Amino acid sequence: MIESQIESRNYIGGEWVPADSGEVEEVTNPARPSEVLGTAPRSDRGEMERAVGAAQEALPGWRSTLPAARGQILLRAAEIIDSRSEELARLMALEAGKPLTESRAEVSRAAAIFRYYGSEGWRLYGVAAPSTRPGVRITSTREPLGVVGLITPWNFPLAIPSWKMAPALICGNTVVIKPAANAVLNAAELVRILEEAGLPPGVVNLVMGPGGSSGDALVRDGRVKAISFTGSTAVGLSIQERAAGKKVQLEMGGKNPYVVMEDADLADAAAKVAYGAFGYAGQKCTASSRAIVVEEVYDRFLEEVAEATKALKLGDPLDEEAVIGPVINESQYESILGAIEQAREDGRVVLDGGATGPKEEGYYISPVIVADVENSSQTAREEIFGPVLAVIKARDFDHAVELANDTRYGLTAGIATRSLRYAEEFIERSQTGLVNVNLPTAGVEFQVPFGGSKASGVGGREQGMAAIEFYSGWKTASVLP
Ligand code: NAP
Repeated sequence: MIESQIESRNYIGGEWVPADSGEVEEVTNPARPSEVLGTAPRSDRGEMERAVGAAQEALPGWRSTLPAARGQILLRAAEIIDSRSEELARLMALEAGKPLTESRAEVSRAAAIFRYYGSEGWRLYGVAAPSTRPGVRITSTREPLGVVGLITPWNFPLAIPSWKMAPALICGNTVVIKPAANAVLNAAELVRILEEAGLPPGVVNLVMGPGGSSGDALVRDGRVKAISFTGSTAVGLSIQERAAGKKVQLEMGGKNPYVVMEDADLADAAAKVAYGAFGYAGQKCTASSRAIVVEEVYDRFLEEVAEATKALKLGDPLDEEAVIGPVINESQYESILGAIEQAREDGRVVLDGGATGPKEEGYYISPVIVADVENSSQTAREEIFGPVLAVIKARDFDHAVELANDTRYGLTAGIATRSLRYAEEFIERSQTGLVNVNLPTAGVEFQVPFGGSKASGVGGREQGMAAIEFYSGWKTASVLP
């Protein structure tokens, strides 16, 4: 239970302000939908225009601040996150329905991200290149892009805003962030931490409002030089059209395969698939939503994965042992239940689940496993973003790779095998941005490039040095002294 409701506001030019209309949206707890956690301003286009203006005004001061001084603020933010970790984890569990153990891990990941990019302030290296002309000195240095717009989803309510804001800021950009409606309280806390860490007014601005109006205003604003978006493929691809002329990075959906070979440790593979498919109720872009299993071990794997799934506790996100919490909101709840109906038609039910009770008592859906699914069926092709696993039979390794790649998505893929040849060949042939061998599809570290191919990702990777590449431009100077 929350002690008192949180009245969150927009943060524009260093001021916490309500929506122009004074309208607010209630923020509720998906585990107890009648529990109101707080309110968020229902902003429109005007607030977004002012936020971009504030970011534009703060730009000269921030870009001329020494990178190491920018880094000090990020390092302080990391310390504050760590010092408030339990409180932040509980807020995440309450607002986003993420089980406490995962929420805690996400909070420490957010701190690590700020620490990583904070220390990049000492290392924003350029390049000195040899010239083909006698006496000419050539240097290429990084410079900020300008005002950047960040649009984030609700499922990683601290980590995703952190892995966009921290590299954007260290490179000297100013920021306007539009968080998802279901993660506003978390986003506001993060911005408050940056304010407390000493970020000057206008360097980060936060506007809460519907994607279709305030998000659209950010995407279309000519003063914004880059957009980094994470969310669904449908919204992402539409942003690409509306953001003409900007540098754009889109991280989108997934339908991630986990291939299980005949030589795999089946219990281990089943545990990883079960956790990958059902942890956080399957609401991860990296969820293992398709298990592709060679026929030799198919029946045994089905038994193992059903057992491993039954061992995952469904419960209130504040329960220390819960692995599966509620799904995020009523519309997702209804849409997932519809997808489960379809899954029952598309395959043979191995573990049946669905709504665990009236939705007024929480948007809980227990895991569903369907076997003998055709890779061409809707259940195998569409991202459900809920606790549904499709198991698909493959004849052999080549067939498994073919099935794994036969999807519009390309975020992540896994393989369970003891064979070095299978592993290496899978890494080579997988049409995804991320590949895992004997490791879950979810759980990529923060210091390495992250992102997908095909309909999962466009425009460069996030995290690690790839993010520095996205948030900076190059200036090449040729000098004849
Ligand atoms: P979403 O509905 O696409 O929303 C993402 C963000 O876009 C939200 O802030 C949303 O605001 C905003 N938005 C919606 N319509 C917009 C528009 N017309 N113009 C500008 N912005 C708009 O996605 P979600 O439900 O929050 O997140 C789930 C999806 O994210 C899944 O598909 C998942 O796979 C994907 N995801 C991908 C990654 C990755 O790294 N590849 C990571 C996490 C999640 P509102 O909330 O106000 O609508």
